[in-house]
Amino acid sequence: MRTTDSYIESHIINRSPQLMEMEEFARINHIPIMELVSIESFLQLLRLQNPDSILEIGSAIGYSAIRMATALPNTKITTIEKDENRAELARTYIEKNELSNRIQLLAGDALEIDLYSLSSTIYQAIFIDAAKGQYQRFFDKFSPLVPSGGVIYCDNMLMRGFTEIELSDVPRRKRTMVRNLQAFTKWLMNHEDYITTFLPIGDGITISIKR
Ligand code: SAH
Ligand code: MG
Repeated sequence: MRTTDSYIESHIINRSPQLMEMEEFARINHIPIMELVSIESFLQLLRLQNPDSILEIGSAIGYSAIRMATALPNTKITTIEKDENRAELARTYIEKNELSNRIQLLAGDALEIDLYSLSSTIYQAIFIDAAKGQYQRFFDKFSPLVPSGGVIYCDNMLMRGFTEIELSDVPRRKRTMVRNLQAFTKWLMNHEDYITTFLPIGDGITISIKR
């Protein structure tokens, strides 16, 4: 972690015991939930935006979905997770936090899911936090659900620094993913329907506002 991030993190106040238990579970089991500094900044952006509904691609164990639902008490969330075990854990945690009435969890591949199975037809905010090589496909599939003024947020756009170094210095097995993410970033920054900015918070977050 960058020293700036550990400094900021040292000032972040404790979350509820249930949430801290999830953070610990994710750490022990190597589940890549959003870093504290990123999630805190991201939640603050969401509070400013105050969307009625949010669609998340990549729930993992439900940590970010639960944090979003807690930060925004009037917002409905749909979250999609491909890994069955993680989806099951997410379901359990969502129930434990008594948020089943506001979080719809869909187990399955977001790229295959039928848009009719989503609980809403419009999402003012979409959060893409799943397979890094597929961001453009997620973006294209779900962009029609975003109204003008709505926002698509993408996490891990820096891929721990891999996107900013020479490709030859990136481990071979990660090169395709890095190349895809770089191409996606270029495409996104030039997308005519969106105004995009790239923030170096945590692992890199892009914010794309629909015109
Ligand atoms: N947003 C979570 C972390 C998500 S980690 C949090 O911060 O708490 C990324 C997750 O995306 C993984 O659990 C992975 O299984 C899931 N994923 C990857 N590709 C996917 C796809 N095509 N559809 C749905 N989920 C996907
Ligand atoms: Mg992430």
